[in-house]
Amino acid sequence: MEKIEQNSAIVIGAGIGGLAAAIRLQHAGKQVKVFESSAKAGGKLTEHKTGPFRFDRGPSLFTLPHLVDELFSLCGKNPREYFDYKPLDVSGNYFFPDGSKFTAPANPTKFAEEWEKAFGESQTNINAYFKKAKDIYEITNGVFLERSLHKASTFLRWETVKSIFRLGEIDSMRTMDKANKNRFDKEKSVQFFNRYATYNGSSPYLAPATLNVISHIEHNLGAFFPKGGMYQITEALFSLAKEIGVEFKFNSTVEEIIVENGTAKGVKVDGNKAYAEWIVSNMDIVPTYKKLLTRVKAPRKILEQPRSSSALIFYWGMNGNYPNLDLHNIFFSKDYPGEFDALFKTKTITDDPTIYLFVSSKEVPTDAPSDCENWFVMVNAPHTNGQNWDQLVRETRKNLIKKLSAQLDIPNLESQILCEEYLTPEGIQTATSSHLGALYGNASNDKFAAFLRHPNFSSKIKNMLFVGGSVHPGGGIPLCLLSAKIAVREVK
Ligand code: FAD
Repeated sequence: MEKIEQNSAIVIGAGIGGLAAAIRLQHAGKQVKVFESSAKAGGKLTEHKTGPFRFDRGPSLFTLPHLVDELFSLCGKNPREYFDYKPLDVSGNYFFPDGSKFTAPANPTKFAEEWEKAFGESQTNINAYFKKAKDIYEITNGVFLERSLHKASTFLRWETVKSIFRLGEIDSMRTMDKANKNRFDKEKSVQFFNRYATYNGSSPYLAPATLNVISHIEHNLGAFFPKGGMYQITEALFSLAKEIGVEFKFNSTVEEIIVENGTAKGVKVDGNKAYAEWIVSNMDIVPTYKKLLTRVKAPRKILEQPRSSSALIFYWGMNGNYPNLDLHNIFFSKDYPGEFDALFKTKTITDDPTIYLFVSSKEVPTDAPSDCENWFVMVNAPHTNGQNWDQLVRETRKNLIKKLSAQLDIPNLESQILCEEYLTPEGIQTATSSHLGALYGNASNDKFAAFLRHPNFSSKIKNMLFVGGSVHPGGGIPLCLLSAKIAVREVK
């Protein structure tokens, strides 16, 4: 066997979790090499260009930006020299099936005032809801998000002990929908706040009310947007990683993780072997075991947990400017419970799904010609389960055009689409190895879901770490960044 270079690490995958792990390991004194299947960094956090239009291809909502900044500060750099962002004054424009529209101020006090005026829900109810969401965040953040749930040391910390005494307050014994119905008098309020379950690919009718914590992050801590668009997050972290000495090998798919005597020793790539002291997988945890660790006993219970929802996205270069749209826009469905039954039970998309429409050219004018806009039109979709995607894409496209034409009063909407691409759950799986095309790893449709995510280390394989949206603490940019922080704490 080739000699393992001391103080070296190999990272499999240059998604956001892989980039953050590479930066932290290099900073910790390891020489890091990243193997990435595709031709560029970013994984789901990527972009594409079609003619004069640029599209952020995956994430569009940016929260907890300090978690990106801290990677620069850690390396002694000023984050503002690489990347900047601004807080959003408006979190989104909301369109309801009865024709009413609401422009949601990001500030929670203003939100409560405006929402009361628009829909009659009392500010007291809304403020009490925000207060509860904040309390849940304060109880769970130090225990569930910033630390490993699989280390005794986590539970010996005073902060954890304090949180454990308050666990009864995190509202885990009822669903988000039940809690929201109990808190609010108006159906629109329930639908509005139930939507936060979708931020980690879950259903408000199944997920515990603990997930109301997500609205605290968006409303109380704020929604942000990077200058130049979401892909700037990837670009900035990639630049930082290269600058501090991380080596990248693109178009390089890892085929196997070499494990000898219970220790991860290296990887096989294109038939060649590469060795390192630490191996980190940013590949989805299911294919990591099924494809790269075939000789290791897999943790079946964890790998067989139900997966989160996925998405079907149309990227439309649109002729014209649409002043009633903002950066983020939501068009709610009439039958919200039916929509989630379809996603999680029958594994399909209803004829009237809630539409999320993101227009980055509102903030980044160069993303589209001045008399045009770039529309990212997304609906929640089930993870892959043998569906006929060609047919679902055709039908959903028709339904989206009909609904958007009516709600935005654009009778000839289809003829304004100058160019078009789309991405299905199958496409997401092919592009990033995400098991079943799930956006956020396992679903959180169960109160024990947080405990059934794979830890960031292995109790069976020494010197093996796991980062990214399919492992602890979960999916989404901030949690992927935290997964790297927790994982690299293992490295001495
Ligand atoms: P991934 O992005 O999954 O990347 C894994 C990388 O590993 C890929 O580059 C892949 O090519 C590479 N790889 C896999 N296997 C191998 C191998 N064997 N060898 C070498 N390389 C390999 N999050 C938010 O915070 N806000 C949002 O608004 C939001 N919206 C989303 C919308 C969409 C459409 C999607 C798809 C996701 C969205 N998310 C959002 C979720 C967020 O994008 C993900 O949680 C996060 O980007 C996942 O990062 P990751 O580190 O798990 O790696």
